[in-house]
Amino acid sequence: VIEITNCEGCGVKLQTVDTAKLGFIPEQALTRVPIICQRCFRIKHYNEVSSVALHQDDFLQILGHIGGTQSLVVHIVDIFDFEGSLIGSLPRFIGTNPLMLVVNKVDLLPKVSNLNKIVNWIQRQLKEQGLKPVEIVMVSAKKNIGFERFMQTLDKHRAGKDIYVVGATNVGKSTLINRLIRDYSDLEAELTTSQYPGTTLDIVKIPLDDGKFIIDTPGIVYKHRLSELVAKKDIQALLPSEAIKPMVFQLNEQQSLFFGALARFDFVRGERQSFTCYVSSAIKIHRTKLEKADELYAEHRGVMLKPPTLADIELLPPLAKHPIHIKKGSNIDVLISGLGWIKINSLAGAELEVHVPKGVKLSIRESLI
Ligand code: GDP
Repeated sequence: VIEITNCEGCGVKLQTVDTAKLGFIPEQALTRVPIICQRCFRIKHYNEVSSVALHQDDFLQILGHIGGTQSLVVHIVDIFDFEGSLIGSLPRFIGTNPLMLVVNKVDLLPKVSNLNKIVNWIQRQLKEQGLKPVEIVMVSAKKNIGFERFMQTLDKHRAGKDIYVVGATNVGKSTLINRLIRDYSDLEAELTTSQYPGTTLDIVKIPLDDGKFIIDTPGIVYKHRLSELVAKKDIQALLPSEAIKPMVFQLNEQQSLFFGALARFDFVRGERQSFTCYVSSAIKIHRTKLEKADELYAEHRGVMLKPPTLADIELLPPLAKHPIHIKKGSNIDVLISGLGWIKINSLAGAELEVHVPKGVKLSIRESLI
């Protein structure tokens, strides 16, 4: 019998059950020396970080620790789920350390988007949230957009300090850090993992040429994001893989749209108008009459209405209904965190009801695009 102990790299308790959780080690690797978790193995042998996730309390413990350091905090958010991926409590935890906001996945914005307008939009959203970054940078970690400016800005605000990188899960933090390692760090130097004193929360330290570090922290899991509630294979369907192609629906009142079996959008009352959907092309949008929507969902969820498929539908909490009143002359988005948004440019106003799995964040905002 092999006794399972702690990882000799990062010190985390080892486990052979869940590949997505901290401390995973494949059973056959338990006989190797030294015994290290899969994450440390990849860091050691491939100089590559992988995503690990933490729940809120553990994550806040890390943030609290940053407050006591002299560092630059780099917060990565996902432009596709701006509200859902923003860590609103950040200013309370990082003390007087400067904050830099990196808005990732700009490659997902429709081709015609005006980036300056979007930066202004972001600034207004941040002001409402009470976040005051020293700089906002737009990048695509996957398509390598904006990295020159990102690196220059990083250097400018770092002033010889360590850099803490924080973000929610699936915002592209590992993709971005691995690009930094590949393209900008001293490849001879080894990445190391270590723990916060008194915790089992591990971090990855990427050495910089001046003896300081980029410190990768685990991603925070926000259960208010639909992308965190679905099965792993459905995450890929929810996250668009290329620039979003907006889908326009002209609806009469008493018509509904289903987004797979993930959400339902009812146009209850108002003049005929258009609703523009910004969601991944892998999500099937199905239009129906409002009076038939309950029955359709009961009969066809997981089959005609998917994702998710029938096998995974129980992972989702039941749909909860939210009434929304759209004022005359408004130009807004209804954001369903993790799924996307519906743009409404309404001269005459509208009464809506939006159904999302219980707990999923729904917000109304000034139109992004
Ligand atoms: P982490 O959980 O924050 O470390 O996120 P990952 O780096 O694992 O990325 C999560 C998902 O987002 C993956 O499917 C990535 O391919 C995708 N992704 C990361 N960066 C980008 C980007 O700049 N653009 C797009 N379109 N997708 C990205």
